[in-house]
Amino acid sequence: MIRQPASAIRTNVANMGPQFDREIEERFVRYARIDTQSDEKSATSPSTEKQYDLLNLLATELKSIGAHDVMLTHYGVVLATLPSTVKTDVPTIAFLAHVDTAPAFNGTGVKPIVHRKYDGRDLLLPDDPDLILSPKQFPYLAEKVGEDIITASGTTLLGADDKAGVAIIMAVAQHLLQNPELPHGPIRIAFTPDEEIGRGVHTNLPSDLQTQVAYTLDGAELGEVVYETFSADKAVVRVQGVSIHPGQAKDKLVNALHLAAKIVDTLPHVTLTPETTTGRQGFIHCYEMSGTPAAAELSFILRDFELDALRAHGELLQQVCTAVQATEPRARITSTITPQYRNMRYWLENDMRAVELAREACRQLGIESFSPPIRGGTDGSRLTEMGVATPNIFTGMQNIHGPLEWISLQDMSRAAEVCIKLTELWTSAKKSAEAKTAGNGKPALG
Ligand SMILES: [Zn+2]
Repeated sequence: MIRQPASAIRTNVANMGPQFDREIEERFVRYARIDTQSDEKSATSPSTEKQYDLLNLLATELKSIGAHDVMLTHYGVVLATLPSTVKTDVPTIAFLAHVDTAPAFNGTGVKPIVHRKYDGRDLLLPDDPDLILSPKQFPYLAEKVGEDIITASGTTLLGADDKAGVAIIMAVAQHLLQNPELPHGPIRIAFTPDEEIGRGVHTNLPSDLQTQVAYTLDGAELGEVVYETFSADKAVVRVQGVSIHPGQAKDKLVNALHLAAKIVDTLPHVTLTPETTTGRQGFIHCYEMSGTPAAAELSFILRDFELDALRAHGELLQQVCTAVQATEPRARITSTITPQYRNMRYWLENDMRAVELAREACRQLGIESFSPPIRGGTDGSRLTEMGVATPNIFTGMQNIHGPLEWISLQDMSRAAEVCIKLTELWTSAKKSAEAKTAGNGKPALG
């Protein structure tokens, strides 16, 4: 990323700078130490009780800095309002971040380390001497010389995903509440649980947010403004065999495990898998298999950016099941495909204002913006589909979900500046056009 000199137009963000860095650092380090790992095996909402440790703290802190309407919903979301400072009727916008960290790696006992004024050399993590964070392996780190880099200590993830978003939004809220002369419309704040396990958006959230435009602070490199995510389906294939004692099995046993293996083996291996695709290519990914000779189950995720291609992946899986079924009529093979989330572009491209204003905010701050399609989903994917246009903005987070996770403090500060600039830019947006994006959440999907 090329960072250009900041332009002259810096009104709402005029008072920021090093002090703002320190505030974000203080908040980030404190929030990162709190264990908020979610758990996909849990049936409760939020999935883990410990997410309340941070949710409750954030509610208390929002009250203490003077936010209005602070509440913790029964589904575990902290909501708050920063009241409008302008007389005109301008659109409400919301900022969201998720409090949970990924179940993929240890999230207990996080010890954030601030490496001040990074000198460009390899960074070592004290609790695991084998781990080296090298700018040769991670070129984005090489761009951060002179900045303050935060890592974990080697045995845990850092949880910048998405404590960075939480710290940025809290700093933005504090800045706006302390400076009521800065012009902005009503701003809603939401801290959600369980994003990492795909359960961050409760059906009540769109109406409780009371807005039709929102931004998640859950993106990566400086300047990233994301409005394209995967479209996602889940597929479960069930194979019922015929079970019998193996000693008497001649011509009678139908082993479900053999048939399940045949299904996996018949699916494409050198194309259409996560490990053989990149960019805009989609895939069929078998991520779990279990069973006995009597019955087996295979779980898949299907991903693509385009709906017709996603449909084709599902059809291919079903054709393979039909073909394997034909080899053994005594078995019963069924497949069930259920939608998970959809590419937010299908809705956002009907009204690109939320995206354009985020890019304009970057431009006015001298940050070059870019919009990569991301090979995953966000809370914004679901929210956009449900009627709240929700692009995703950078925080700086890198190498997420593992021990080499790191973030630049200055990237977080720049993200806060973008949010504050956005609140100003939305004051000149017309409210009448607001309903164009959202409506009933059902765009023409061709
Ligand atoms: Zn995240």
